Amino acid sequence: MDRTRPVLVTGGNGYVASWLVKYLLEDGIDVHATVRDPSNKEKVGHLEAMARESKGALTLFAADLLDSTAFDAPMRGCELVFHTASPFQVTGVRDPERELVRPALEGTQNVLAAVDRTESVKRVVLTSSVVAIYGDAADMADAKIDAFTEDHWNTTSSVSHQPYNYSKLRAEQRAWEINEKQTRWQLQTINPGFVLGPSLTQSSVSTSLATMKQFGDGTLKMGAPELYFGVVDVRDVAIAHIKAGFGPNTSGRHIVNSETLSMLDIGKALRAVFGSRFPFPRRTLPKVVLWLAGPLEGLPRKFVARNVGYPLAFDNGYAKKDLDMDFRPARETVVEHFRQMLDAGVIRAR
Ligand code: NAP
Repeated sequence: MDRTRPVLVTGGNGYVASWLVKYLLEDGIDVHATVRDPSNKEKVGHLEAMARESKGALTLFAADLLDSTAFDAPMRGCELVFHTASPFQVTGVRDPERELVRPALEGTQNVLAAVDRTESVKRVVLTSSVVAIYGDAADMADAKIDAFTEDHWNTTSSVSHQPYNYSKLRAEQRAWEINEKQTRWQLQTINPGFVLGPSLTQSSVSTSLATMKQFGDGTLKMGAPELYFGVVDVRDVAIAHIKAGFGPNTSGRHIVNSETLSMLDIGKALRAVFGSRFPFPRRTLPKVVLWLAGPLEGLPRKFVARNVGYPLAFDNGYAKKDLDMDFRPARETVVEHFRQMLDAGVIRAR
């Protein structure tokens, strides 16, 4: 990879991508970042500020995922494309096909069509997810396995059940199909677990930030569902993208994940550091309560049935080896994330 060439980051203002752009700029790499509205200072001000303090130059381009030609101009001259843009919302979605599946799938098609038209591109790193690997936590028991690996694919999500997971599955599958039709550019995917850790942007609507906020705003004061997450630090996710992008011999899918934590584990880790000034969850809510009340709180019964109380585990061995990296302990990540939210005024003590 020629480090004097610009690299493209789609959705450059997102929670995950902001760290990626920061590390690239600090490394002296010129970054072309697409955002929906480059004139919106709330969304891009932090990127412009980091560019002023870095060796690399930042150029912002306007691009919507549903625009079939918007990615040609920002991609011009790039050898490396990081495609991170995709909606990450799991609650409050009214029309999952329109709000999640179309932008994820058509966006990936549009970006990769531009890659096919841009002779300079040698490699694409797609931000996929572990939810392209599994759909519900119960899938692990059903498959009689101890942990998910890069060999597994989500076979249980649909537009009507776990639509965000379905959007990531469809987008990644389509990316591999398009990649297989040619030989000029290589595809690699980063499949992160639940990404947490300090945010460089206050304007992201990522579920990561909304979930961490719930630990401090009283949403979980009566207790937390027995849900398990593979947790990974946002800074490690950014580093994994860079290693996949520039590594001479890296390839394939990568489960980028530190360790599994339950919601109660996260509450305990936060209470140990921040004490009882915050309404961190102290107990697990009975599954039957969630079954009855879940739909009113945006938790469909099928989601409760197939996720609450089921353990979850991911094998990160391939990513550690192929990307030559290790992952920060997940409890440190959640503590640093909560501290950053306090410093930014997102959360206030009682
Ligand atoms: P985020 O902050 O909401 O970032 C999403 C990005 O996608 C934003 O830049 C957003 O732009 C852009 N986007 C959404 N819809 C778009 C559209 N129609 N046209 C153009 N851009 C659009 O969320 P994130 O957590 O950083 O997620 C980034 C990527 O990581 C996604 O692909 C997500 O699926 C993946 N991922 C996230 C996690 C996690 O736990 N956070 C885990 C695994 C994978 P606007 O700012 O204009 O909305």
